[in-house]
Amino acid sequence: MSAPVLTAVAWPYANGPRHIGHVSGFGVPSDVFSRYMRMSGHRVLMVSGTDEHGTPILVQAEKEGLTTRQLVDKYNRVIAEDLQGLGLSYDLFTRTTTGNHYKVVQDLFLSLWRNGYVQSKVQMGAISPSTGRTLPDRYIEGTCPICGYDGARGDQCDNCGNQLDPVDLKNPRSRINGEVPRFVETEHLFLDLPSFTESLGSWLSTRTEWRPNVLKFSQNLLDDLRPRAITRDLDWGIPVPLDGWRDAPMKRFYVWFDAVIGYLSASVEWARRTGDADAWKEFWTDPAQAYYFMGKDNIVFHSLIWPSLLLGQNGAGDKGGTPGRFDTLNLPTEVVSSEFLTMSGSKFSTSRGTVIYVGDFLKEFGPDSLRYFISVAGPENQDTDFTWDEFIRRTNFELANEWGNLVNRSVSMAHKNVGAVPAPTAPTAADAELKALAKAAFATVGDNLRRSRFKAAASEAMRVVGAANKYLSDEEPWKRKDDPARRDTILHTALQVVSDANTLLTPFLPHSAQKVHELLGGKGVWAAQPELREVDDLDDPSISYPVLTGDYAGEQAAWGSVDIEVGTPLTKPEPLFAKLDPKLGETGPEWAPVT
Ligand SMILES: [Zn+2]
Repeated sequence: MSAPVLTAVAWPYANGPRHIGHVSGFGVPSDVFSRYMRMSGHRVLMVSGTDEHGTPILVQAEKEGLTTRQLVDKYNRVIAEDLQGLGLSYDLFTRTTTGNHYKVVQDLFLSLWRNGYVQSKVQMGAISPSTGRTLPDRYIEGTCPICGYDGARGDQCDNCGNQLDPVDLKNPRSRINGEVPRFVETEHLFLDLPSFTESLGSWLSTRTEWRPNVLKFSQNLLDDLRPRAITRDLDWGIPVPLDGWRDAPMKRFYVWFDAVIGYLSASVEWARRTGDADAWKEFWTDPAQAYYFMGKDNIVFHSLIWPSLLLGQNGAGDKGGTPGRFDTLNLPTEVVSSEFLTMSGSKFSTSRGTVIYVGDFLKEFGPDSLRYFISVAGPENQDTDFTWDEFIRRTNFELANEWGNLVNRSVSMAHKNVGAVPAPTAPTAADAELKALAKAAFATVGDNLRRSRFKAAASEAMRVVGAANKYLSDEEPWKRKDDPARRDTILHTALQVVSDANTLLTPFLPHSAQKVHELLGGKGVWAAQPELREVDDLDDPSISYPVLTGDYAGEQAAWGSVDIEVGTPLTKPEPLFAKLDPKLGETGPEWAPVT
């Protein structure tokens, strides 16, 4: 039996709709991978959700005139709908404001605390002289000590992107009333990262299959690990379950700390919703494998910080300890990071107007053309510029002309001449060669998908499509009116290879794969799609929220060639992909920013 697979997908931040750069980093790659793993017989648990705490949520809520709760409700739903539209097959896509998440974060914290991996330190925090109350980081602005920008906030500088401490700002002032804050001592909790140096180092030395840049980058950081704050003076977040902290209104876990624990909490929530509260354990203990998907700006959280939390929980950091409430949890098997999808050379940016939102894109073009573009031309190994020209070219020439046309002409000729899958007689060497090529592709495409080499996998699958088109052009079944036996053999061969190519392309193109399955006379669900379901919070039934989930065990798609059945009735096909107006390539649709 194949090992269970945990697909842990980075959590999108709920302060606005997500753009196609986001889903090219965490979304499409993780889904292509998970679909392939399910098709090849693994039990897969794919989890994520919206990341809903932290200062930027509060800032955005103020901007939109909403309460924080209204804001996160709004964008949790927008994001979940977009990801559903893309066909991302989450077993559970939830959120960080659930009762379950609060409980799991607090439990995991307590394990770290008991094992001695959390230290308390007093540092300087701001209070308002006029009210005597704590002034949150985000309400302080001043001059950035690093780049000199004068609008830096207490928590970070939007100009240079560095995380800051308010006490470091030059010329600090309150954003509420302009007064100069008074700095007083405030206590915070820190994850003692240096006490994982040895244990992280020996674990990383076993990660020989990781991409060399990710491994090297992580190993280089080992020598300079410093304690990292896990609490914040903020009133929006998860309370710290310790005496003296629990009821402090301005002491909450730092957003990064709670969000990264989401992989575990979402797995626990999924299990509780299946009715077997322990079902998550199968995906977190040996022999399960855990694959984490993210953009490159998030590597350190997945290669060092999350593993430290797991080691601390397990009682396996440099100071030892005992396993906590979750027993012994697996560390990441693989950290799969993408580079950035850019526009005119720079990162997508809402403020610069260079952004294409997922929702807008799906409304205009549907999901599979975007999934294909990201897989075959996305930022897998290097930053990659999105251009409409390239998107139109891939859609028109590869999806419509190559794949769509192969399906269309094979099915319509068989339909017109026979009305069903024709019977083959006396196959030639050319027939056998094409069929063997398609069959052999399952091993090469599968091996690439298992190693998250999506470009290579998609190109190998499309090579089968190209070979089948060439075969039809060479064999010319449309000229074989006087030799129906040969014509039918050619069409049977073509349909068999269409069926195989469709299986090979299913992880990339699950929506059109379902259509091709039906065009070939198949019934039922070939590639299952996620559903948006309204559920009650498991710990507070007065709250409900949408989750993405699905019944993927019921799908028929399996990794391998299946012989098509002679005599299966065929109907006249509709085109699989609409061709796009090449003129769109100059500017994109009206709503899109000009590149
Ligand atoms: Zn700066």
